[in-house]
Amino acid sequence: MPETEPVNWAIALHGGADATPSRNYAHVKTHMTALLKTVSAKLEAGESALDVAEFAVAELEACGHHIAGKGASPNQNGVWELDAAIMHGPDRKAGAVCALVGFKSPVKVARSVMAGIPVLLSGKGAADFAAAHDHERVPDPHAYYEPSVKEAPPPNTAGHGTVGAVVRDRHGALVAATSTGGLLNKTPGRVGDSPIIGSGTWADENTAISCTGEGEYFMRTAAAASVAARIRYGGQTLEEAVEAVISEVGTLGGKGGLISVDRHGHIALPYNSSGLKRASATSAGHFKVKVFD
Ligand code: ASP
Repeated sequence: MPETEPVNWAIALHGGADATPSRNYAHVKTHMTALLKTVSAKLEAGESALDVAEFAVAELEACGHHIAGKGASPNQNGVWELDAAIMHGPDRKAGAVCALVGFKSPVKVARSVMAGIPVLLSGKGAADFAAAHDHERVPDPHAYYEPSVKEAPPPNTAGHGTVGAVVRDRHGALVAATSTGGLLNKTPGRVGDSPIIGSGTWADENTAISCTGEGEYFMRTAAAASVAARIRYGGQTLEEAVEAVISEVGTLGGKGGLISVDRHGHIALPYNSSGLKRASATSAGHFKVKVFD
């Protein structure tokens, strides 16, 4: 089939791992279902994986149901330091921000970063960049943020409310995007896996991956890049690769999950935590929103 011919699209979204069985996730499922319909229509209409992934993650940031964007929690100093990344498989372009303060959509800032030379901007440099590119500010953090987790947890507690999207568009491009407030009550300056290209976020010509969970373990296993390497060098299928990586995270003592899509439009959503807020759809009619098994 010529490359310009439309081929199947596929998308998966996540709103974080380790959902608590006693909590009611009806509002999360309602929002994810509506978002999945919207992004499916965009992909059906031929929109690019890059635009759709950015859009989906920005919507998940804005909804306030997850520990990202509006629903994020502050660090131990009461400051909202947020992380995000986006990666475009066909040319391996990537953009990321970490410890970003004062802007509503870290993923949109990450997309702007992707257009330049640096891959990752941190702290003040990231905020200056966001301001220079006219990204929407958070004028009053205490008025804007509505932490989706209200309890005061012990330092650096996994909240598992990161959000992400992996997309294969009709032209075959694969994109991954991730955004997070990180661990709850986190150490100031702490940066997790989400904005680290190859740990929490990765896309190449074979696969796109967005991780969630105890970020340090996903960094110590180079989780997202390991999935890609297992496919590229080990000839593994997507399912084999993601199961092996989640098992490696577990062997080190970490909990979490990931969403992934390969160049054939196969989707795999493994996790070793108690749940994974997730949604997936394909042009072949698959459409599913789930939190637990
Ligand atoms: N992986 C994220 C981090 O460690 C947290 C999460 O997924 O909820 O920053």
